[in-house]
Amino acid sequence: MTLPGEWEMVIGLEVHTELQTATKMFCGCANHFGSEPNTNVCPVCLGLPGSLPVLNERAVELAMAIGMALHCTIAPSTFHRKNYFYPDMPKDFQISQYDLPINKGGFLDLPDASRVSIERAHLEEDTGKSTHLGGTGRIHGAERSLVDYNRSGVPLVEIVSGPDIRSAAQARAYASELRGILIATGASDGRMEEGSMRIDANVSVRKAGEPFGTRCEIKNLNSLRSLVRAIDFEARRQIELIEGGGVVRQETRHWDENLGATSTMRTKEEAEDYRYFREPDLVDLAPDDAWQQRVRDGLPKMPAERRALLSARLTSSTEAQFDAVEVVIDLNLETYVHAALDAGVDPALALARAANELAGDIDNLGHLSSEGFCATLLMEQRGDLSATQAKTVLGEQLAHGGDPASIAASLGFERLSSESLEGTVATLIEQFPDEWARYREGDEKLAQFFIGQVMKVTKGQANGKLVVEQLQARR
Ligand SMILES: [Zn+2]
Repeated sequence: MTLPGEWEMVIGLEVHTELQTATKMFCGCANHFGSEPNTNVCPVCLGLPGSLPVLNERAVELAMAIGMALHCTIAPSTFHRKNYFYPDMPKDFQISQYDLPINKGGFLDLPDASRVSIERAHLEEDTGKSTHLGGTGRIHGAERSLVDYNRSGVPLVEIVSGPDIRSAAQARAYASELRGILIATGASDGRMEEGSMRIDANVSVRKAGEPFGTRCEIKNLNSLRSLVRAIDFEARRQIELIEGGGVVRQETRHWDENLGATSTMRTKEEAEDYRYFREPDLVDLAPDDAWQQRVRDGLPKMPAERRALLSARLTSSTEAQFDAVEVVIDLNLETYVHAALDAGVDPALALARAANELAGDIDNLGHLSSEGFCATLLMEQRGDLSATQAKTVLGEQLAHGGDPASIAASLGFERLSSESLEGTVATLIEQFPDEWARYREGDEKLAQFFIGQVMKVTKGQANGKLVVEQLQARR
């Protein structure tokens, strides 16, 4: 979306990610999505009097891994109580990190080469989950509310970006890149639809060069699509308000996916409203160098580095290949592509088949080995299979497994002999003299026309490259 006049968006994102630990942040209850409501609970996560929290070591390691992947400094940190009342939080406070977070000051580089600063990434516990029945699904106007405490005490890391993002598209790219990092570190499964990654967006507008405007925070965006739509709506709302002589109030807003609009949830609390104070039941957290080094040594390659490694093997850099590399890395398909490149498959072909055929059938990859993938692509490259046939063979391999040569034979895919292809091309040249004349005069687009005609006659069995060779030989 382009903004009117000189207007510019200023966006900062707060991303909450649930950590993939076996147990909760401060107790031994299972951290598991989808259990029967209120079955993974105990006195600690129900906030019963006298219960004491015990910090989950694995949660600290995953928080450090996130911080390291985001180039943060791992710092000695403390836990605070953030006090407020809500039915899904039985203690009436949330244990979080306040002025001394575990990760401080990092950055995230996006595929378009822009850099977004990271202010902090701190540990905290999740609340339970409320479901409001009747009305709009929000607590106001609901007939009844249900509370599930299974999520209460699940470990979270909140990653706070600087106000460096300037468009909804950049916000989307940031969230998507961050999601890839969270998955790579093993910290999160990245399932936004299950709420394991939730985004709050701080949005304000200003004329270019002016100081920041007043921001509004849109809570709990749980898909990349909602993130983009909510930011665009909110920026437009603020501009219309200001241009109409109004003033933007600092507040927390709710995004309604169906209405496609944000609305006031509550006027913004200030930090002092939460009466933060040190959590007296937990000691300070200061991971020593040896522990930090163990976590650092265990970090896998991050998506940006994997993209760079794959891109370095390409022989050309078109927009389509750039997009395909992103898809391949996002979906963890690079083992197939690297294996194909090692086997001598053309990079453009390997990327296209991975980013389309494999990506389109991602749940069936178990049937397809990288050797099987390479074998099919080499058959296609040699001209033993046409593009259409190769896609069909790959589809069979994904569905049932098996060796590509046998699959091709069982489907009756035989390489068209060059003699019969020669005959077909000769007949078509006679049939389409005008097109042939234009091709001879140098109109390369007509090659595509002849390939199309050959495919029609051979029912997709011919190899496009061989057709072009035949055409050129007769030119
Ligand atoms: Zn518990």
